[in-house]
This record gives sequence, structure tokens and C-alpha cells, in this order.
Amino acid sequence: MKKITIFLLLLFCACNKQKDSDNKSQPKPKDPYFKSIEINDVKLGKPAYGDWLFSHKENGQTFEQYEKSKHIVPTKESNIIYIRPIGNFTVLQKKQIELLNEYLEIYFQLKTKTLEAISNNVVPKSARRMLYENHEQFLAGYLLDSILKKEKPLNRIALMGLSEVDLYPKPEWNYVFGLASYRDKVGVSSIYRLQDGELTSENFNLCLSRLLKISSHEIGHMFGLHHCTNANCVMNGTNSMSETDRHSIRLCSVCQQKLSSCIKYDNKNRLTNLENYFKRNNLTEEYLDMKKDLDIIH
Ligand SMILES: [Zn+2]
Ligand SMILES: [Zn+2]
Repeated sequence: MKKITIFLLLLFCACNKQKDSDNKSQPKPKDPYFKSIEINDVKLGKPAYGDWLFSHKENGQTFEQYEKSKHIVPTKESNIIYIRPIGNFTVLQKKQIELLNEYLEIYFQLKTKTLEAISNNVVPKSARRMLYENHEQFLAGYLLDSILKKEKPLNRIALMGLSEVDLYPKPEWNYVFGLASYRDKVGVSSIYRLQDGELTSENFNLCLSRLLKISSHEIGHMFGLHHCTNANCVMNGTNSMSETDRHSIRLCSVCQQKLSSCIKYDNKNRLTNLENYFKRNNLTEEYLDMKKDLDIIH
């Protein structure tokens, strides 16, 4: 009896193996790349007062937990990321949205499209307020529920609204960077607070880096990635702009493995494109982070 059980067990394992090698679209959990780049993960220090992890006791999410979780995967019918600008954008802001589009396409290795901007007139008086003189804010939930959730652009896998006006989540709150419904794969963020008052050629790169971080973070949630506690990572939770500035734009080794298993892209191709992107746009620190990972693949 014991022999039969062992035989059946072996047969079962053999079948599983066969199935794995037959199915080329299966993720490769033992890809040595992810283990090798662990060396580039910068461990998180003890959270200080005001940091996200100081007030949110999060346990993180292992790769195995991610694999077992229910999350979206791109299909033929659902494989395009959309950006929907809301409001009147300056020339520099439009340039940033263009660069964001390009970045998301590389980062997620999925087609990304920017839809026509819609006017701020879509927001009724009841969903606006003046925080103080000349500082108008929109109710984030209105943009999310009454505008963005109703949009169904072709083959959408995720949709991100970008407002140039400051947002608030509820009357008792001062402001919010953004709001998202991960179940609906829709989010809205404001670029207002990323820009330290006004976007200029002097602060352009810092503000661009922030926009890339918060957008890839939010859309990362839509693909089922939880907040990361493994290392300094773009998926770390954040409480403030200064904390976002301290976080890396890079996905740590564990989060790279999660995204790669979901979207099934070529890691080398993705990193090479990211490295070129950062180089072209003079984002030096970001460029060096990509180079370190890429050097391991070469
Ligand atoms: Zn988050
Ligand atoms: Zn991570």
C-alpha cells in the first residue's frame, strides 16, 4: 500500500512537472534573476514618527501570497492602461503626462494610452469647495464614482484619472493625493501637490519622478501588489511627499517577481527600456538603480 502511495505521489509530481514545462506562459518562480537582484534591495530602517509604517502596522505580502491571491492578469480583451487628464494643463504639465504615458508603457510592458482631457466643468458645485482663497478643491470620490468608473475605453485593464486641481476625500480632511477603487481598476490622483506650488523647468525632474512613482504605485495596487515592507521599494506605503521622495522608484526583488509573474514580460527588455528612459530624461539616481539590476542579467 505504501509503495502504491509513493508511486502515485511520484506520478503526480511528474505530471505536474510535465504540465509546467509544457505551458510556456507559466511564471518561472525559480528564475535566478530575482534571487540575484536581492543584493540591490536596500533594507528599510526603523520607521520614524510620521512615516507610513510608524502608524500602519503592515506585514507585507510574500511572492507566494501574491501568487495565491486573486488578481487581474492581462488578456486579449483587457490589456491597455488608460490615463484620463481632467482640467486645464500647462505646456509643462502636458509634457509630464506624455512622459508618464511613455513610462507606464515601459514599466508595465503594456500598451498605454492617454485619452482627451475633459473639462473641470464636469464637476458640479456640490463636489467642490474652497480650502482658502483662490484654492479650489474637488471631491475625489465624485471624480472616481461619477466620472471615471463610468468610462469603459476599449480593452481597458486599468484607468487612472489625473486632475490638476487639488483633491479632498471628505469634509473633515484637508486634502488627499488620490483615491482608487482597486476592485474596479480605476483611480484618480492630483498632480497639484506634487509640484511645490508651480511646475517649472527647475523642479520638473523632481516632480516627474514623483508622478512616475505615485502612478506606478497606484496601478501596481490594481495588479494586486500590496504595500511592500521587504525593502525600499516603489510599493512602500507613504504618508507624505517627503516620504515618497525618500522611496526608490525601483520595485524590490520580491515585487519585481510579482509583477513579472502577472504580466509575463521579458525582465531584460523592461529594464533596458527603463534604463534608457531615465537616461534620456536625466533622472540619474533612477537610471543607476536600473543599471544595477540590469548588470546582473548581463
Ligand atoms: Zn498604496
Ligand atoms: Zn517591494
